[in-house]
Amino acid sequence: MNNYGELAAKIKERNARRVMLQLPEGLKMKAADMCRFLQESGIEVLLSNEPTYGACDLADAEAKATGCELLVHVGHSKFYVDFETDVPVLYYIWPERIQVKTDFSGIKEKRIGILTSIQHMELLSDIKSMLEGAGKEAIIGGQMLGCWTANADKIKEMVDAFLFVGSGEFHPLALSGKPVYKLDLERMEIGDVDAEKFQKIRYGRIFRARDAATFGILVSSKKGQKELLAKADYVRQRLEQRDKKAFIIVMNEITNEKLLGIKADAFVNTACPRISDMQFTKPMINADDIELLLEE
Ligand code: SF4
Repeated sequence: MNNYGELAAKIKERNARRVMLQLPEGLKMKAADMCRFLQESGIEVLLSNEPTYGACDLADAEAKATGCELLVHVGHSKFYVDFETDVPVLYYIWPERIQVKTDFSGIKEKRIGILTSIQHMELLSDIKSMLEGAGKEAIIGGQMLGCWTANADKIKEMVDAFLFVGSGEFHPLALSGKPVYKLDLERMEIGDVDAEKFQKIRYGRIFRARDAATFGILVSSKKGQKELLAKADYVRQRLEQRDKKAFIIVMNEITNEKLLGIKADAFVNTACPRISDMQFTKPMINADDIELLLEE
């Protein structure tokens, strides 16, 4: 059974008549085909077309508001933090069956820890064998998120470098402490992830934020990221202890455009830690860097 058939069967197992379909940006080009297939299978489907980056970000409230009995969240597994949802959620990871062909000679280190996002888990044992065939020792770490690297931390002492299997730098930038390579599955190429460059950018942002008098503290209204409000209160107190002004801003989607009109000199992000890797006009630091910012 292909992914379309499997998805329809799983929805039917839940006896859901009307569902909301939520897809990450990378799968939106399949949205029309998915909707058509599900409808032809007798399932009434509504597509959520808001940006979706992770399982921290569920469209369950929209599903309930539009009379759907189930949210079908495709492309991610359940978030590692539990939270209540307005309707039941079916997670379907949309596994990608890709034939991997690449040259691993660009990897200099001997012992390699392999990480990936959930869709590519099935590829890891093949990639391990390929690395071993290229004379490496390979250890499968497993899944990681841009905000969750526990599987990398577990194998860190046993490896000389990490290899992230997937695309983009959203995930591998969360890895630290070892050289990081990425196997780009679209280009079938191995490349370095220049973590040092991103560390320099991070310290540059902290440096630029030091002179700010007024800070906006960003809190996400996405359910999986919501428990960060306590962190925002702590950040506000720490800033006020240093005679800075600070106020809390709640947003769903955090973008530079939405922040341009806000009269703050810098921002502290308590939401998805990868947001601060995007381009912002004013300095933006992550909440975990607050003590570095306040260092004398
Ligand atoms: S918080 Fe960010 S990195 Fe973590 S799951 Fe959500 S979008 Fe992904």
